[in-house]
Amino acid sequence: MNERDSEIMAQLLGEKGYVETGDSDQADLIILNTCSIRAKAEQKVMSMLGVLRKQKQHNPKLKICVAGCVAQQEGQQIIERMPHVDLVIGTQSLYQLTELLDDFGEHPVATRLSKDYQIPPFIPNLRADNHQKSPLTIPFKKFLTIMQGCNNYCSYCVVPFTRGNEISRNVSHILEEAYSLVEAGIKEITLLGQNVNSYGRTNVVSTETIDYSFADLLRAVSTIPGLRRLRFTTSNPKDLSDDLMRCFADIGILCPQFHLPVQSGSNRILSLMNRKYSRELYLEKVAALRSYCPDIALTTDMIVGFPGETDRDFEETMSLLEEVQYHGSFSFKYSDRPGTRSATFEDKVEETVKSERLRIFQSRQDEIGLKHNQGYVGKIFSVMIEKIGEDSIVGRTGTNHLVHIADTVCSYLPGEIVSARILHAGQHSLRGELVGKD
Ligand code: SF4
Repeated sequence: MNERDSEIMAQLLGEKGYVETGDSDQADLIILNTCSIRAKAEQKVMSMLGVLRKQKQHNPKLKICVAGCVAQQEGQQIIERMPHVDLVIGTQSLYQLTELLDDFGEHPVATRLSKDYQIPPFIPNLRADNHQKSPLTIPFKKFLTIMQGCNNYCSYCVVPFTRGNEISRNVSHILEEAYSLVEAGIKEITLLGQNVNSYGRTNVVSTETIDYSFADLLRAVSTIPGLRRLRFTTSNPKDLSDDLMRCFADIGILCPQFHLPVQSGSNRILSLMNRKYSRELYLEKVAALRSYCPDIALTTDMIVGFPGETDRDFEETMSLLEEVQYHGSFSFKYSDRPGTRSATFEDKVEETVKSERLRIFQSRQDEIGLKHNQGYVGKIFSVMIEKIGEDSIVGRTGTNHLVHIADTVCSYLPGEIVSARILHAGQHSLRGELVGKD
């Protein structure tokens, strides 16, 4: 979501004549787009702002802007702590970025979260300067935001406070954007939302329901001629419908990959997390997904060391990992986030215990991931090319695995799909040989 927000800001600025520079010393404007999902990310922002203070002393005309979730959450406090910051722009205000830059005067400005927030009908999604680019660098895949915010209030999560209440974009606006992307040469679209499974429950203009489910939306986008691949993220298991799972059997271009965050294998911890599903329900969803798409690659998010997590709870997390056999996961030590309910929970887990649990989880996950990868050896996959090197190409399977393919002819372009036989499996990528073009 943040990556897409950075892209939107870059495009809004590009339309106003700003040009990107890779050298921050040359910049007139520096924007830090921030994440506050974990304490570590937030600390990095503050330390980067400390570095930029010195840069501003050398170049007083430099404008420094903090955007994203830390900006939304900390607002005016950032300006108080870091007076060299000119603009603090929350997640909901990014579409007004250029107006805010035009308007602000001498004094720093911090935007606030609004209840009447709306996503504009048309969000810029492609730069108009594709014709000036080398065919090797023209984009072939894009994110498309379909909704914003979240109403779930998981007890550890800042998102409802930093991105506000959930709102869905209108179907017609999403389809218009998707068609324009494909017309411009985009081959793969990833639909983005904090919880795509609840798409349509609240729309942009009011709290009325859009009579269109996420599965309906997937089916509509999948019919766009010329689109080769479709993905989405993220899904809360409690709202995962059978209709959506069936899409993996019905929609040919829907990639066989599913990120289904579980967060813990213990029902007691899931309840403390306010996740509103049980381990048993989660496992039922996994079984159903695999019945519709046996080769689906499942990934998850896992938090270890949630307040009150006992050895027994952690064992249940490990047994869930054994049962599901994820292809990969993003796993983290729990950290308190300001304003969340779990920050007030007592019975915090010792840092050393959290670190040890994370080590145990990650090392077992690595073994399982490698075993999945080794199972691909000898099989043929469709691979969408992402990068062309001197004597190799790098692409991605529908299951989202990176594949390195030896190729001295290099007659392909990014976005094209080839068939490749997997020859070797590593922990994080595969190596294959070309079999032909799809
Ligand atoms: S569903 Fe996801 S984004 Fe929403 S509160 Fe829970 S963890 Fe945060």
